[in-house]
Order: sequence, then structure tokens, then C-alpha cells
Amino acid sequence: MIGERTVHLFCDDVMLGHNPEVDMPFIPSRVEKRVRSILEGLTFKWSYPEHPGRLSAIRQYLEANPIDGVHWTSGESATYEQLARVHTTAYLDHIFSLAGQSAWLDKDTTAMSPNSIQAATAAAGNAIAAVECVVRGDAQSAFALVRPPGHHAEPVRARGFCLLNNVAVAAAHAQAKLGCERVLIVDWDAHHGNGTQDIFWADPDVLLFDTHCASPFYPGSGHLHETGDGMGEGYTINVPLPESAGDAAFESAFRDILVPAARHFKPDLVLVSAGFDPHRNDMALNLTYNGFRMLTRILQDIADEHCRGRLALVLEGGYNLTSLSSGVHAVLETLAGGEVPELVEPGILAVQEALDFHRPAFTDD
Ligand SMILES: [Zn+2]
Repeated sequence: MIGERTVHLFCDDVMLGHNPEVDMPFIPSRVEKRVRSILEGLTFKWSYPEHPGRLSAIRQYLEANPIDGVHWTSGESATYEQLARVHTTAYLDHIFSLAGQSAWLDKDTTAMSPNSIQAATAAAGNAIAAVECVVRGDAQSAFALVRPPGHHAEPVRARGFCLLNNVAVAAAHAQAKLGCERVLIVDWDAHHGNGTQDIFWADPDVLLFDTHCASPFYPGSGHLHETGDGMGEGYTINVPLPESAGDAAFESAFRDILVPAARHFKPDLVLVSAGFDPHRNDMALNLTYNGFRMLTRILQDIADEHCRGRLALVLEGGYNLTSLSSGVHAVLETLAGGEVPELVEPGILAVQEALDFHRPAFTDD
């Protein structure tokens, strides 16, 4: 029943300050020239897709449709030391030196605006706070509603609208300060979490399980044979999916691959890179809201079985504001103890209804 479990929701308005507007003056650079030439080649007016309206839309929807058991709160910004567990100091010093200005950081159109450092450090800090919350046992689960997102950010560079790898910073903090020895990170965003994979590539204490739309979809990594290296070999599990994959494929990936892997790994914390772009109305893939509920319930069961329910989610992508807001709402209802309906192929229920309606016309029943 909804309200049976408590969920802490971490958010902070400072994250609205990250707002790259392409018409503003940017720091001149080689990448700036490159991006400008790409944008000039487009036949439409491009605006930065990862915008503050994403977070505002979620907030408004959740405030208009509150859920029993879900409580709003916020955390501190991440410190340089906390970030330096997963990013090089050279990279951090570089982006910190750009504070107060607008700059393109990657030719894939990742940029920062004058207040982006405050937003990005708040995003990483709220992911840390979500982890501290579930490890302390303040709530059964936590969701960090953050932006800019994180899973494309590599140790040495920004990519894919991501500046700092929020989920990786949170996982590293759990290991360094909260006594967690084995952290499971599940990334269900439509895009492969290349940054998270890179950061924990050789680490046997972090198991990364990543479902995503297969290459050549951005960022092009996440092939089946990418399984980690050195001591970390076998601790990266990629499940590349065709663009049409939906609830049934995700359910099988989670039940048949993730659940046994988690049983083998025995995590003491479960983190989720929760993107809402695999929803059928968004960029790629075909999940429904009930599909998100089902994935959430499987993760709750994994966390209940192995680590006293410690489950923390961190927002990644999701660009259709309706499916983003409703998707977050569906996940939160499930975290709060809501029922998960049995999954049926979309359309089956409508066909059943039509059958009942038409049958008398051509039978004697
Ligand atoms: Zn994504």
C-alpha cells in the first residue's frame, strides 16, 4: 500500500542555475568553434535539451499529485575531496576555473553556464545525501532529483550534458566513509553509462549493470563484451537492447541477469542511475509507466534480500516532460509501497474490451 514505506526525496533549487543558453557569449576555444559550426549546419533552432524546466516539471507534478510516505528534503553540496574520489584534480581544477562563465566542454554540445558549478556540486552532494539517508536508515529508500545528470561524465571530462558523475561520487563516498564494501549500480537510462563504467572499470567492489539502447545510439559504448578489466573483470554487465525493446525485455534482463548477478555479488548498497528516456514517449526504447514500477520493485526486492532495503536512486536523463514527471511519480509510488500491476502487452486490454463489445454481433451467445 502507498505510504507503507518512507521515501526521502532530495532536491535543491540551486540546480536550476545550470542553464546554458546558446545565444549567450561563450569562452572562445577550439571546441566552441566546432560546436558553432555544427549548430550552424542544423536546419532548426537548437536549444540546450537538458534545461532547468526538466526539474521544475517534476516538482510541479509531484506537488500537484503528492504521495503518502514521500518527504522532500535537500543535502549539502559535494566537496572537492568527495569529487576527487572519481574525477582527476586536473579536470576538477579546469571546470572550477570556468565558474561564472559560459563554456562548451565537449563537441557533443555539453556546456556550462555561469552558475553550473554550484548546480553540479549540489547535484553530486544531493546524491551523497540520498546514500547517507538510506545507509543511516532514515528512510527505506531515497531519490535524488538532480541535474546536471552524471552518468556520461568520465574521470577526466564532461560528456553528454554531464559535468560530474553524481552516482559514482555517491558510490565512492559510501565506500570511503559509510562502511559499504560492495556497491551495486543499476543504470536503466536509455543511454549507456560510459562514465560510470570507466570510473569503476577495474574495481571488483562496484558491480555495474547497465541496460541501454545499443550502439550506434549515443554514446556508442556498452557492448556485450565490455565486462571490466584487471581485478574488475566480470563486474561490468552491459545489456545492449534494440530500439523497440520494452517492458518484457527489461523484465527479463532484470530477472534473468541482474537478480542472479546480485545474488552472487551480495551488495551492501543498491544505487540506480534512473533516467526516464527509455519511456516509449521519449528518445528510445519502449518502457511504460508500469514497466518502471516493475523495475523498481525488482530493485527493492534485491535491496531487501541483500542489504536491509538500502536503495538510492539518482536522476539521469528524460527529456519529454510528461513522461519524465509521470515516470518519477510512478517510481516514487512504488518505492512508497504501491502495487505493481501485472505487465501486459500494450493494446491487449483494449482488444479484450473490443472482443467483449463485438462478440454478440457474430455469435449466438
Ligand atoms: Zn539518457
